Amino acid sequence: MDIPGAWSRVASGAMLLSADGVLRPTIFAEMSALALRTGAINLGQGFPDEDGPAPVLEAARAAIAGGANQYPPGIGIPELRAAIVEHQQRFYGLNVDPDAEVLVTAGATEAIAATILALCEPGDEVVTLEPFYDSYAATIALAGARHVTVPLRAPDFRLEPDDIRAAVTDRTRIILVNSPHNPTGTVVGREVLQVVVELAHEHDALIVTDEVYEHLTFGVEHVPIATLPGARDRTITISSGGKTFSTTGWKVGWVVAPPALTKAILTVKQFLTYVNAAPFQPAIAVGLRLPDEYFRDAAETLGRKRDILSTGLRRAGFRVSNPDGSYFVIADAAPLGFTDADDLCRRLPELAGVVGVPLGAFVREEHREGYRSLVRFAFCKRIDVLERAAAQLAGLRS
Ligand SMILES: *Cc1c(COP(=O)(O)O)cnc(C)c1O
Repeated sequence: MDIPGAWSRVASGAMLLSADGVLRPTIFAEMSALALRTGAINLGQGFPDEDGPAPVLEAARAAIAGGANQYPPGIGIPELRAAIVEHQQRFYGLNVDPDAEVLVTAGATEAIAATILALCEPGDEVVTLEPFYDSYAATIALAGARHVTVPLRAPDFRLEPDDIRAAVTDRTRIILVNSPHNPTGTVVGREVLQVVVELAHEHDALIVTDEVYEHLTFGVEHVPIATLPGARDRTITISSGGKTFSTTGWKVGWVVAPPALTKAILTVKQFLTYVNAAPFQPAIAVGLRLPDEYFRDAAETLGRKRDILSTGLRRAGFRVSNPDGSYFVIADAAPLGFTDADDLCRRLPELAGVVGVPLGAFVREEHREGYRSLVRFAFCKRIDVLERAAAQLAGLRS
């Protein structure tokens, strides 16, 4: 396509541009279309198929009825900023200033984009884990920054301190950590996070942490980087109500960061969306103030779902990862004789009536070795749907 502009840099950063310049749809669009066309169970895209907590949904309806339908304040309504502050205090013991250190965004996606665009100059390096959430690569490319990756290797996708040490240099502007991790479900432990903080100091880098799955861990602790010694002053924490409250379509996210960084990010955010989601902001405030049991139950229920799908995949003959958090499990199809996950994912609707996403879609072409036979499946679905998927997948063995 012969159209000038930054889009082609974004497309190639997001691995959507083939060598001969052909623009492909994202793998999620392709696989969701395949699920729709074939009627297969869509375990490709990570969105829940059940509504979130009733008080949260009711609060949004009430907000619309009550007239919360015009531009809210640019940094977010006071009630939501107060609820974010209470949440950081209640769960992590962090003291945050609601007027200077909190910014409400159009989902975590806008928070990530505004942060990278605000804080990177062209040529700066941004270090992320790999496999990575697709928007990171696109946004880093949009900013004209350089994307440097740290491998998480099968089968357990642990972050190795030596790998992160090798990636961070004086050229690093941002170390972007995503834990609990999409797509692998790995949860980075306290000691390794402390290494990240030390590296940030040593090389004068900022830390951006994507914690959208902060409440969705299974028996392991989620450690927010901002709680570690020496981290707070250089850490931008990003989260969202989408995953925690099963409201991925609402796009209410937030940034928590020191005042000067928050101001810099707001400067960009206000020209991306200006403001967002007036009636959903008070509703997410209600969610963040739900009692502890809500958060505990949500994680427990999701953990059971992980087990149902994992057991089904294992019975079907896959080698299956044991994710400590997130919506996703990684299944290796090699023991079943499938070495190419792209090919398997295209055929899986016909073979088993199920859709997954090849893990290679989250990895740069030149780094795909070691990921080729791996498939990401989402388990944030109704239990009966997961049981049906498990039963259908069992047929793969024969
Ligand atoms: C879903 C997701 C996001 C996007 O969150 P929104 O609030 O929907 O924009 C960001 N990061 C990761 C790792 C995600 O899985």
